[in-house]
Amino acid sequence: MTDPGPAYNRSVERRVQSVRAQISGFGLTGLLVSHLPNVRYLSGFTGSSGVLLVESDRTTLFTDFRYETQIAEELTRLVVPRIVQGSTWAALSEWLETAPRGRRLGFEAARLSVADRDRLTAACGSVIWEATEHIIERERAIKDDVEIASIEAAVDLADKVLDEMIPQIKVGVTETELAARLEYHLRSAGSGLLPFQPIVAFGERTALPHSTPTERPLASGDLVLLDFGASVDGYCSDMTRVFTAGRAADWQRDMHREVLAACEAGIRASGPGELCSAVDVATRNQLAIAGLAERFGHSTGHGVGLEVHEAPRIHRDARDTLEVGNVVTIEPGVYLPGRGGIRIEQLVVVQPDGNRVLTRSSPDLIEL
Ligand code: ZN
Ligand code: ZN
Repeated sequence: MTDPGPAYNRSVERRVQSVRAQISGFGLTGLLVSHLPNVRYLSGFTGSSGVLLVESDRTTLFTDFRYETQIAEELTRLVVPRIVQGSTWAALSEWLETAPRGRRLGFEAARLSVADRDRLTAACGSVIWEATEHIIERERAIKDDVEIASIEAAVDLADKVLDEMIPQIKVGVTETELAARLEYHLRSAGSGLLPFQPIVAFGERTALPHSTPTERPLASGDLVLLDFGASVDGYCSDMTRVFTAGRAADWQRDMHREVLAACEAGIRASGPGELCSAVDVATRNQLAIAGLAERFGHSTGHGVGLEVHEAPRIHRDARDTLEVGNVVTIEPGVYLPGRGGIRIEQLVVVQPDGNRVLTRSSPDLIEL
């Protein structure tokens, strides 16, 4: 995001106001934000080192000399930068010690290392530190129109690249070569840093839900599984599609049909107000009809945004309810060790009247 235009600025302003309301509800005077995607969400800063202090009347970014020029382009107007010489943590501590004593500041318990927490508490004797849990992650789970537009752009880019990849999936190509080409096409088409290393698996290796590409060449009759995403303005996409090299065998076609039915059941179940756990149950129950639920060992999906795995999680123990503005994957899979696996992953945005599938590529089994 190099041009924080008025809509983006307003968007960030709303996020900061909402976080402020929450932290004051917890009796805190401020929140120290150290998780970089959260820093970016509330300030626009994309650097790899910096912490943000959100207080009731100001928001301050502490970073170092390397980002001096970058922050002039990226920071939204309400964030005040402090360029630090040496350690950011030391400068932050020093700065906090000059502020009024007895302030209660929150820190992100799931994001701050024990060493950094100890350093802060030792150096800032005048601050009362309180652990907080997922305040900003909960905000981030609800996307506004600016964010949804970025996610859609990332989805469209990945869809377009899939079309370019299909003619390259030929007998003899190796998983690593196809993965390298996929990465090249994604970046050439305009994707930012890839959200994750693409999964490219052939044949029996498709039964490994998170396999790493190897030198295995594609053989006739193999299943081919591609799981990949793009990023635009920092927002990710995530999709999985399955092909066969040549005509599909009956077992491949049958398994694909069942997984697609489970995926569609999950999508139907994922409207506003629905429990995330109920969406997971919907995909699992559909697979159970075909006796395949035992071979579906991971959760049904996850939120996607500035990170490729974020709230809300769609799994059987999830207590969250889907809300308008959530963007989630629905990705059931069936894995038969030694034979092969099929996963179909769609990206869905929850809307007031139901939901909308963002991924445009056909989820059907394509015989190459
Ligand atoms: Zn994926
Ligand atoms: Zn996923």
